[in-house]
Amino acid sequence: MKKTIQKNAVIGYPLGHSKSPFLHNALYKKLGLNAKMVAIEHRDIKFLVQKIKQLNIGLCAITMPFKQSVIKYLNKVDSQAKKTQAVNTVINKKGKLIGYNTDIDGIKFALRSVPIKNKTVLLLGAGGAARAVAFFVSSAKGKILYLSRTKVKALKLQQEFGGIVVSQKDIKSIKFDVIINATPIGMKPLVQFSPLNKVVLSPKQYVFDLVYNPVETQLLKDAKRVGAEIISGVEMFIGQAIRQIELFSGRKVNSESIQNFARKLLLT
Ligand code: NAP
Repeated sequence: MKKTIQKNAVIGYPLGHSKSPFLHNALYKKLGLNAKMVAIEHRDIKFLVQKIKQLNIGLCAITMPFKQSVIKYLNKVDSQAKKTQAVNTVINKKGKLIGYNTDIDGIKFALRSVPIKNKTVLLLGAGGAARAVAFFVSSAKGKILYLSRTKVKALKLQQEFGGIVVSQKDIKSIKFDVIINATPIGMKPLVQFSPLNKVVLSPKQYVFDLVYNPVETQLLKDAKRVGAEIISGVEMFIGQAIRQIELFSGRKVNSESIQNFARKLLLT
């Protein structure tokens, strides 16, 4: 008898930009998992949580703007997600909803070759993804300098994860080892914009842009031109998705061949 297919979902509003169903469905097929991810777009998080339960969604990827508002509807939140106060993954275990933050795993994966300990890290933006970056960099003992248009949000990150808040004027005279963009500036359709003045870029830096669409943002193009090492948000996207599938399937699926398979899908 044919087993019924497990329904998974990505929820958010709007969802036009999400490549999660594309990547997940290809990975399920490759890994022989009997599951399918669909996109459910709605403005109301309460409605979406009801849908997860009604449709018996097994794995739910959470995207903007619900990573924080979903928390109050969950039965349990794991410790990483608690620290960042952001959930990007919900696993439905027989009606009990458990929240995780696999963005942190994605950031760790994207930065696997980047020295962070005692390095000066400029973090642009102070939203949900920036919280995950701040958590990771502070755990790896990097020195974080926050630059955000809403200063109060950057001050909150400083309070929780250490480091200091800087201004546009300050950054021109500071040498950064690593620069991380956690704002949506440069994302499709506004691809010609960069969140950072080129004068801050230099050859020995690592520049990581969380934006994954386009693969190479204006910031990364500028950084490449000065000879810096660049890392696309595609790497984080792959790392966080693989971890989501591990949480859902209970299997270790991360391997170089799966990473290459995902990379090939997203880069062509
Ligand atoms: P978010 O919670 O909405 O935070 C966005 C941050 O960017 C906020 O600090 C916001 O400032 C700032 N910002 C937005 N527009 C700006 C502008 N025009 N000028 C200056 N600052 C601006 O979003 P998020 O969830 O953190 O996501 C941020 C980016 O990361 C998005 O592009 C998202 O696609 C990407 N991301 C990628 C992955 C991946 O797997 N590669 C995973 C998660 C997120 P205010 O607070 O002042 O509004």
